[in-house]
Amino acid sequence: MSSSIALTYIAAAVLFILGIKFLSSPKTARYGNLLAAFGMLIALVATIPLLGTGETSLLKQGWNLSYTLMVVGIVIGLIIGAIGAYSVKMTAMPQMVAAFNGLGGGSAALVASLEFLRRAQNQDITAFVAVTMLFATLIGSLSFSGSIIAFLKLEGKFEKPHTFPGQNLLNGLILAVILGLCVYLTGWVATNTTAFVVMFVLALVFGVAMVMPIGGADMPVVISLLNSFTGLAVAADGFTINNISMIVAGTLVGSSGTLLTLLMCRAMNRPVTNVLFGAFGSGGGGPAAAAGVAGTVKPIQADEAALLLAYAQRVVIVPGYGMAVAQAQHQVRELSDELGKRGVEVQFAIHPVAGRMPGHMNVLLAEANVPYDQLQEMEAINPSMDRVDVCLVIGANDVVNPAAREDKSSPIYGMPIIEADHAKTVIVMKRSMAKGFAGIENHLFYKDNTRMLFGDAKASLNALVAAVKAN
Ligand code: NAP
Repeated sequence: MSSSIALTYIAAAVLFILGIKFLSSPKTARYGNLLAAFGMLIALVATIPLLGTGETSLLKQGWNLSYTLMVVGIVIGLIIGAIGAYSVKMTAMPQMVAAFNGLGGGSAALVASLEFLRRAQNQDITAFVAVTMLFATLIGSLSFSGSIIAFLKLEGKFEKPHTFPGQNLLNGLILAVILGLCVYLTGWVATNTTAFVVMFVLALVFGVAMVMPIGGADMPVVISLLNSFTGLAVAADGFTINNISMIVAGTLVGSSGTLLTLLMCRAMNRPVTNVLFGAFGSGGGGPAAAAGVAGTVKPIQADEAALLLAYAQRVVIVPGYGMAVAQAQHQVRELSDELGKRGVEVQFAIHPVAGRMPGHMNVLLAEANVPYDQLQEMEAINPSMDRVDVCLVIGANDVVNPAAREDKSSPIYGMPIIEADHAKTVIVMKRSMAKGFAGIENHLFYKDNTRMLFGDAKASLNALVAAVKAN
């Protein structure tokens, strides 16, 4: 590889790293995305000379390349990406990430497969290269099929965990056969394509088998985990085809995906093994949750709720998945502004796993131009929740469920929550008594200090804003 190409790859890698750094704040996230995309562009352009001429060129290595096909591929990818990005609804972002991640995993698996078969047929393969490419094929393909199942689950298809007796044993058996085939293929010379194809197909089956027993609600965690798998597959590809930017980009995706998975699990107080094998969301819940909770549900009308808000000193708003479904972020901002004009101190309490993807609430509130300094993280706001006059819960459910603190038999016991119930008055806005993602009863709705404002969040907020203005 010429030094100018190597330098271009290093520049691309630096842009990827800066891109991720900028993504850590909503203020700079847009630039981060642009920087990383620019990095990808220069990495793509730098790859072209490598394909055609020079000692390490792919043409010299016996590849049969068509520039026309590559350009057609890039154009198709650009069109699909742009249409997807412009048309996706904010609530469907996790599906989009699942789809893109699946395609990334599938591509990494294809690159590794073709390179493995080509080198093996030319008898030009060391054990290290064979292991690296089999690793990339295995995790790339299971990431592909697993992401398709995650996408479908997020779309509401077979959302519940699908389990049967002996499932873990069967999955373990499939994995053992895959690993056995990998060991066999590592010492392989030339002709056994069948063993490779069987390994590839079993890896696809394993991806499906791995994700089917997991509930739809845990899909963001699964996608993040599969994302880290895709990153590792890409990095492994980079090692074998000698591409620095693939190694760096793959390692970045692999490590950030792993960190995100662990952070989400920590925020739910559940180990990764519980997410993967716990069949969470299968409608279970402890006896207390199933049998109902002590207390009564007390509805409230918008006029009365507006009075409580308008005459409060301090109001904390807890947004959740329902705010995203109702697309009510602009109405929330309007209400916050109206209250601010009346001298009410308004803050937003953000739970790390509110909604269906990390940062879901931050993105929606940023879109509605809610000032960042009004956003408070769970740990920061919880100690002062007992000094809050009104806590307005908008389409949040699990993340404010005191069962996580009070009920040892609850599946969410131990999960850190926003202590909404500590406020003097709690107003919960949702359409019905339906359960949240975890599928369990919410103790908050039955507390003495809680009032339920039933209805679609956007309609209820419009009514609240009008009533606050009238007061
Ligand atoms: P949630 O527990 O899923 O509850 C959302 C509530 O919104 C529902 O109870 C629903 O009740 C209400 N709702 C839906 N549409 C509405 C509308 N149009 N207007 C008003 N309300 C509406 O949500 P959450 O409290 O945000 O909790 C997130 C859950 O996802 C947690 O269990 C978390 O562990 C899980 N999770 C999140 C992530 C992540 O990265 N964010 C990752 C993995 C898992 P009605 O149907 O009665 O209206």
